[in-house]
Amino acid sequence: MTLINDAIVSAVKIMPKPVVGIFSKKYIAGEKLEDAVNLVKQLNSKGIYATLDVLGESIKNKDEASEAKNKCLIVLDVIIENNLMANLSIKPTQMGLSIDEDFAYEQVYQLVEKAKKINNFVRIDMEDSPYTDKTIRLFQRLKEHFDNVGLVLQAYLKRTFDDAVILNKLNTNYRLCKGIYIEPSSIAYKNKQKIRDSYLETLQVILKSGNYVGIATHDEFLINESYRMIKELNIPKEKFEFQMLLGVREDLRDKINADGYKIRIYVPFGEDWYAYSIRRLKENPQIAGYILKNIFSFKNVNSH
Ligand SMILES: Cc1cc2nc3c(=O)[nH]c(=O)nc-3n(C[C@H](O)[C@H](O)[C@H](O)COP(=O)(O)OP(=O)(O)OC[C@H]3O[C@@H](n4cnc5c(N)ncnc54)[C@H](O)[C@@H]3O)c2cc1C
Repeated sequence: MTLINDAIVSAVKIMPKPVVGIFSKKYIAGEKLEDAVNLVKQLNSKGIYATLDVLGESIKNKDEASEAKNKCLIVLDVIIENNLMANLSIKPTQMGLSIDEDFAYEQVYQLVEKAKKINNFVRIDMEDSPYTDKTIRLFQRLKEHFDNVGLVLQAYLKRTFDDAVILNKLNTNYRLCKGIYIEPSSIAYKNKQKIRDSYLETLQVILKSGNYVGIATHDEFLINESYRMIKELNIPKEKFEFQMLLGVREDLRDKINADGYKIRIYVPFGEDWYAYSIRRLKENPQIAGYILKNIFSFKNVNSH
């Protein structure tokens, strides 16, 4: 099965861009900010919140990082103009973290400062492990000035429970996810159940501390266990929300919403949709396989 999946993933990598585009539609709001706004309005009309992510992969210099930040500033303006139930998610390397920590700090400072003025919030996504410490440092520095900034922890990292214990003292607003990057087994759990165990242990230590957490997963087992934990610990609804990626497990999304829990969808948009789509497709070869089947049978191409 793994071999088949690997083959599918390799095929995805050489898929022509327009083909990936057709099948990636459900994972991305579109190329333009107005596409994202329209989609968020649809979600909001169902009582579902959003977090907007301006797609952009790697930046090469400070000018590009500054440009990326300016796009994010515009997103904050547009959220307010359109009265959207949405906040902003950012990738720290896009803000320049891989070039210069102080520069990245100044950039994100501007975003969080602007968000503060309009009563909004900035979530700092967590990238791969070379940036874990730097990202936590960035967050800690911002936390000295602002309360409207949050961090992401990845349950697959062996360090995560300890990070949560330390960060709990800062009144941290978390998103807890499994983690999406390929990390060495020296620092990351590889076993599915181990990752789930780490997720639940970390979730519990966060919930017990009274800090806010975005429970970001499509794993039904984890969602059910979270429900159970929330009830058992008697956690008030103002202390957590569920989060999912656009286009993934919409049935579960609607169930959580119908159960009366707050749910937020991660809405990526922008011209750099291709790299993002390839990442999503590689993450779920089952979907890639489905795509290939469609391509080769030339069926249902336009219906997705
Ligand atoms: C809101 C949000 C923000 C995130 N932010 C970050 C971040 O900052 N840093 C980071 O490293 N990771 C981030 N992630 C990704 C996360 O780490 C996981 O890689 C991803 O959510 C898959 O893990 P899962 O918990 O859904 O469990 P899985 O066991 O991977 O998935 C459970 C089920 O969900 C479905 N599913 C999952 N992924 C997909 C997909 N791409 N397409 C279709 N179906 C799918 C499948 O049915 C699968 O069986 C984020 C995820 C979410 C939901």
